[in-house]
Amino acid sequence: MREEEKMDKDITLLNQTPDDDQELSEEQRAYIQKMLERLMELGIGAVYGVEEANDEVMIDHGERLSICRAVCCSFIFALTKEEVQKGHVQWNRKRPYFIARDEDGFCPHLDRETFRCNIWEERPERCRQYDCRKDPNVWLDWEKKVINPNAFDHLPSK
Ligand code: SF4
Repeated sequence: MREEEKMDKDITLLNQTPDDDQELSEEQRAYIQKMLERLMELGIGAVYGVEEANDEVMIDHGERLSICRAVCCSFIFALTKEEVQKGHVQWNRKRPYFIARDEDGFCPHLDRETFRCNIWEERPERCRQYDCRKDPNVWLDWEKKVINPNAFDHLPSK
């Protein structure tokens, strides 16, 4: 696509901002995502997460931890402004303010041997509210301890 055509398409997409009560189209979402990534690459963009304070989800994983290996601690999300300001949670220097991930794809705050969070008291709101029992990307069947065979596909070691 020629550069002018591409620019026209970009401007058209920007002008298609929906009313507040309308959903964004897939194309608009993809476009916004691409623009954000580009801005972050250039070091002129930052994303904060928006989390409503809700009740914490407390789960006794028991022996399931040896099956899931805390794969939820490899998921990507943006920290809230307050979490960044408090300074307890490491964030990705290349993509502010997404939570940091080590080379193995896991959170730097995860103890790799025990699968425990080493900033438990200060962990982000997203971690507090996440319920893996309801996430089919992790568990096909929580009760029967059946993990989704694709749960680890996004990790570099896969
Ligand atoms: S902060 Fe703790 S609970 Fe949250 S992803 Fe990192 S290790 Fe997991």
